[in-house]
Amino acid sequence: MRQKNQLRFGEEESLIALRTAWSRALEDLERQINKPLFESCLSTVTPIAMEGENAVLSATSEFAKYWIENKYLSTIQQALSAHLGLPVRVSVRLVQDQSQQGPLDNLEAPEPRIERKPGKGELEFVLNEHFTFDNFVVGASNRMAFAASQAVAKSPGASYNPLFIYGGPGLGKTHLLQAIGHFVRKYHPDMGIQYTSAETFTCDYVAAVSDRKTAQFRRRYRNIDVWLVDDIQFLAGKERTKEEFFHTFNSLHEVGRQIVLTSDKPPKELELDLRLSSRFEAGLVVDVAPPDLETRMAIIQSKAQKRDMTIPNDVVLYMARLIRSNIRAIEGALLRIHAYAAMMHEPVSTDMATDILARYFEEPKENIITPDTVQEVVARHFRVDVKTLNSPSRQSDVVMARQVAMYLIRQLTQSSLPTIGKAFGGKDHSTVLHAINKISKLVLQNSQVADDISALSRELQSGN
Ligand code: ADP
Ligand code: MG
Repeated sequence: MRQKNQLRFGEEESLIALRTAWSRALEDLERQINKPLFESCLSTVTPIAMEGENAVLSATSEFAKYWIENKYLSTIQQALSAHLGLPVRVSVRLVQDQSQQGPLDNLEAPEPRIERKPGKGELEFVLNEHFTFDNFVVGASNRMAFAASQAVAKSPGASYNPLFIYGGPGLGKTHLLQAIGHFVRKYHPDMGIQYTSAETFTCDYVAAVSDRKTAQFRRRYRNIDVWLVDDIQFLAGKERTKEEFFHTFNSLHEVGRQIVLTSDKPPKELELDLRLSSRFEAGLVVDVAPPDLETRMAIIQSKAQKRDMTIPNDVVLYMARLIRSNIRAIEGALLRIHAYAAMMHEPVSTDMATDILARYFEEPKENIITPDTVQEVVARHFRVDVKTLNSPSRQSDVVMARQVAMYLIRQLTQSSLPTIGKAFGGKDHSTVLHAINKISKLVLQNSQVADDISALSRELQSGN
């Protein structure tokens, strides 16, 4: 059975009471607080603990935290106290995006160690001190993103602009973005940097509109030399904020200021407008993919070392096999093992790790590669969509992607040439054969193609 959060007796009850009171208080607050502000900031805040008479709320954006602490603390305290039936104080903690947390993430260090150094005219922002280039483990899945981030950090505005990093949750986007921030702060101290989550940008803009301070807002954002924008997908559906973002983006970009963006999707698939997507694509677009087995092992070793933990190699391998696609979950797992070993005064063993982790992660199923999965992975790699891959398109990048996919399907599955042809919208078996021969030759002649193919094949075989 899955173990619950280990709350002491009474804590769980008071948290439940707090949650109930919070949901009622929200209804009151919705009437008292300006609607756009409420929707963009307060609706993402949740109660996380009752510590004595202190109700702890979590905020996922610095702006929401700032806004509650500085403007609405007493309103919120009153509403919450009324519904709880006892006087409470409210404090706000900044946490990572909760929607991206895995089952073990509540085990991360409770309060991230952060530095706060707003420079002149800067909006306050936080950088996690661990998110540096030195602490980033590089492997095939993130090499390109890492190199591009370093290039940008070394000479902001001079290499790739904008740099757009996309990939699934927990794969190091925020880490890289903040690493750029740390680097620029250290080596270009004269440059004004700003780390903004798209959520913070939204809250900030909505607040500026409601306080009639848009001129100030614009001045603040248009003074930045290096703008690091996290989770740009958050802007989808927010028309006015999107428009303001577009203008901010342009005014910085026009004068050669560096912009780096992260997102969970490539620009084309973002539900923003075309103007924005094409601006993003005009720079360099790189992805971070789920790490392969070796990289996962290296990450586990590196994180363990940072915690002064000794972990036998077979445990490292066990964990790397078990947790495949989210590095945040790897960290949570390590923390749990660490806590257990310390509590029991026992060295970490495979039995212990198996016991602890089996409750949270399913053993990976046997990985069956199908033509569909190959097409998906190859399409993502070449940034075309699967439909185009299977269409008659003769565009050169599509042809290349299609041929690589055919080659990999032949290598990694039992499919016959006619079956492969069928999977690509009814191509002839001789077309498939031609593709396979062509790629086989290219692999020998061109090391870039060879690397690409082996990375793709590794990704497919590791079941990511
Ligand atoms: P994302 O923003 O893509 O959701 P994060 O950047 O927040 O993910 O990364 C999640 C966690 O995993 C962070 O603690 C980060 O330090 C760690 N992490 C991700 N990629 C790497 C890597 N290549 N090397 C070391 N740690 C990593
Ligand atoms: Mg992130």
